[in-house]
Amino acid sequence: MQHKIGVIRGDGIGPEIVAEAIKVLDAVAAKYSHSFEYTEILMGGASIDACGVPLTDEAIAAAKASDAVLMGSIGGDAKTSPWYKLPPEKRPEAGLLGIRKALGLFANLRPAYLYNELKEACPLREDIVANGFDMMIMRELTGGLYFGERGTEERDGLVTAYDTLVYNENEIRRIAIRAFDIAMKRHKKVCSVDKANVLDSSRLWRKVVDEVSADYPEVECSHMLVDNAAMQLVKDPAQFDVILTENMFGDILSDEASMLTGSLGMLSSASLNETKFGLYEPSGGSAPDIAGKGIANPIATILSAAMMLRYSFDMDDEALAVEGAVKKALKDGYRTGDIMPAEDISGIIQTDTKGMGDCIVERLA
Ligand code: NAD
Repeated sequence: MQHKIGVIRGDGIGPEIVAEAIKVLDAVAAKYSHSFEYTEILMGGASIDACGVPLTDEAIAAAKASDAVLMGSIGGDAKTSPWYKLPPEKRPEAGLLGIRKALGLFANLRPAYLYNELKEACPLREDIVANGFDMMIMRELTGGLYFGERGTEERDGLVTAYDTLVYNENEIRRIAIRAFDIAMKRHKKVCSVDKANVLDSSRLWRKVVDEVSADYPEVECSHMLVDNAAMQLVKDPAQFDVILTENMFGDILSDEASMLTGSLGMLSSASLNETKFGLYEPSGGSAPDIAGKGIANPIATILSAAMMLRYSFDMDDEALAVEGAVKKALKDGYRTGDIMPAEDISGIIQTDTKGMGDCIVERLA
């Protein structure tokens, strides 16, 4: 079956890491008799240079015509790049916000997985991570405090600022359904995180999640207050499978969880809408400090491509094969500079962006 993949190579290390993910996707296509058709889409700084704006209508149309989009990262060095002399709405990052909005991407997925080989990068005590952890943080992306009514005004002679946290039941239901669907492809547990002891929006969140949960009898559903969730993440991260939460709680908890894994170059992410469509990208930025050197870690982008296989194309075996190949490359000692251990360890081999891509392709089972 043919799948259309939009490709935003982006800026900085973007083109280098996307090239390796495409190499892996091509190997998957050959091995499993699939056909991936790639359409190049300009966005961010590359689009500013070519078209004068970070996102064009043509780029949005090309993304909409794709089954999924694979993205590197966009942006440059804020101090030296001419892109940052432009007004905010014309800078590279505006392209990212624009495409998320145009595609209606309301669910952000960030896995946090601890590789046995990279345990030394985890800041938690050894006994806490003895059995590793493997969780998926699912964050609502288009509602809540970041999009509610806000303002700064004078009240009773005092400058006063306010933000409002609003969710309607449909916004909660659609992401809850996504979370339970994803749990069905994982370990069948959803922990919904809220602040239902204080917030009305959280009480509605909890009620709607319970309603959705009734349609998924195989999935164990629990609720946790956000302050407790922040503690449990560092006390016992292995207890979590899918964490489902609203925009701001998810913003904070997903960064906390990603720190537990140790390296930015390993962290994949996906943003989904109501259809099978998704935008898949590494969690890190364009790393202008190492761009063009061929040393960036391509694993986050390759794992994002694996998420695309699983969540947009329902190719679970293929996704597992890519994830397995990444594990094998690490087990065989291959590391890019960012995940090299601080001390000399025998059997560890430093490689570059292309070298890591090749190692992973060679290990596709
Ligand atoms: P960054 O994530 O680009 O870099 C932070 C540090 O992590 C750097 O030292 C970098 O070398 C390292 N790093 C990141 N990814 C790596 C990889 N794959 N392999 C090895 N090392 C890696 O963050 P920053 O420096 O704050 O931002 C740089 C630019 O990226 C800015 O313009 C920012 O706006 C943009 N950005 C874009 C996205 C996106 O495209 N979604 C996300 C975050 C930041």
